[in-house]
Amino acid sequence: MNIILLGPPGAGKGTQARKLVDDRNMVQLSTGDMLRAARTSGTEMGRKVAAVMDRGELVTDEIVIGLIREQLLAAGDHGGFIFDGFPRTLAQADALGELLSEIGARVDHVIELEVNDDVLVERIIGRAAETVAAGGQARADDNEESLKTRLMAYYKQTSPLVGYYYAKGDLKTVDGLASMDDVAQSIADAIA
Ligand code: AMP
Repeated sequence: MNIILLGPPGAGKGTQARKLVDDRNMVQLSTGDMLRAARTSGTEMGRKVAAVMDRGELVTDEIVIGLIREQLLAAGDHGGFIFDGFPRTLAQADALGELLSEIGARVDHVIELEVNDDVLVERIIGRAAETVAAGGQARADDNEESLKTRLMAYYKQTSPLVGYYYAKGDLKTVDGLASMDDVAQSIADAIA
């Protein structure tokens, strides 16, 4: 079973994806994590995307589709893929459908985590403050300026996917403002 988690930055996609990995032996494919790893290891692609990411804009479809293609082909035995932060554009959504059909699979469920924007800003600024308080380094894009750009990118480029998957009959919407466990339960019900 393959699942897409859809929602704006701070909606809890990463948290819920990790829970599905633990509970169901699924494989989390987060393009944000892959891009941050490329930056940390200093690859040419990592250097190319750094400034774009820090501003909160989307990197090119070509780059993220390439990353997903590699991971899909490399994966061994597992309980399915969870796409977290991908697809973010209609072109990525089309590419994902094609890539999955190449390996004889499909998107089974698209879960939209619905939240309100004031909460997102609080969560993300809070996430940065907590990381710093614990002696870590906050994500470079977890600041108010980048967050505005990330939210705008979500509404302009990614939110059309809600209609796209609704029309395909794959969309389920859950309340992303509920507690972490309640959101997990709503997701479990949606994919049962
Ligand atoms: P995330 O961790 O999902 O919030 O992603 C962090 C940043 O990585 C985003 O703000 C984008 O700059 C970039 N990014 C991650 N996934 C994608 C994607 N599917 N398409 C384009 N850019 C992406």
